[in-house]
Amino acid sequence: MSRIAFIGLGHMGGPMAANLIKAGHTLKVFDLVPASVQAAVALGAEAAPNALHAVMEADIVISMLPASQHVDALYLGEGRLVHAIEPGALILECSTISPEVARKVHAAAKARDIAMLDAPVSGGTAGAAAGTLTFILGGEAAALDRARPVLEAMGKNLFHAGAAGAGQVAKIANNMLLAVHMIGTAEALNLGVANGLDPKVLSDIMRVSSGGNWSLEKYNPWPGVMDSVPASRDYEGGFGVDLMLKDLGLAMEAALAAKASTPLGATARSLYALHSGQGKGGLDFSSIQQLLRKSG
Ligand code: NAD
Repeated sequence: MSRIAFIGLGHMGGPMAANLIKAGHTLKVFDLVPASVQAAVALGAEAAPNALHAVMEADIVISMLPASQHVDALYLGEGRLVHAIEPGALILECSTISPEVARKVHAAAKARDIAMLDAPVSGGTAGAAAGTLTFILGGEAAALDRARPVLEAMGKNLFHAGAAGAGQVAKIANNMLLAVHMIGTAEALNLGVANGLDPKVLSDIMRVSSGGNWSLEKYNPWPGVMDSVPASRDYEGGFGVDLMLKDLGLAMEAALAAKASTPLGATARSLYALHSGQGKGGLDFSSIQQLLRKSG
């Protein structure tokens, strides 16, 4: 069993840490929000007064923070966490961030003989709670072998996407596609309903026809078509519009850096920015249906 420092106990990190404790690992945790730390302590974790204390003597450091700037500041900024981590330790950076920042942290870690994987996840808060996340990994294969028992306590599928940063590239490509098929699904449902169709009947038809896709089948954006999805609870919970907007911004940065053409991704980013600007940033991302819905 490993001595793990876990930093960032939010919607995803909280349940991920809980699964590690359940699997018997020793956790020292830190979050800026004391209530999140207390929740982990109640499950058996030790509270650290700050990130530096959390990583002292840890074999494995896991971070699950909101965005690139938080990860950059944590490891390379004022705190220089990378200098407090023991040489020989392993960093699992699970946030969705830019491949560039991931590679910067990889390089700084390597210079101190610390192994690292960029390890963004797919599966949402439900997957985090159930321990069924998909980890999309970038870094050396030897680090993955070492990380496997820890990752398997939090997830079901582990994919090695390639070298440092590759996990982030695969994750943001996936989320760009998710945004595009969610918008396409919302648009098709709006077209049908505006022309008098029942959204459930139309969904059943498209599901077994060539329009079938994950957003339609597993996460239908029209309220009432499926039970237990955010659309049927006023778009509460799930994966937030602003998190999707962040990931689309990362996709656009990566596209620019590689001169890759992503016209639908760019349109998706604009539509999510418009939706967020209308005060919908905290709703689930399937609420884009509200933007694409004939009123009246
Ligand atoms: P969140 O905002 O709920 O949690 C982030 C946590 O990090 C917060 O508790 C915050 O207090 C803490 N934090 C921020 N800066 C810190 C610092 N310097 N030190 C310690 N703690 C700090 O976000 P989340 O929903 O848990 O998402 C985390 C990451 O996972 C994001 O990059 C997101 O894109 C990605 N992700 C989220 C989902 C989802 O469904 N929510 C799914 C897949 C991936």
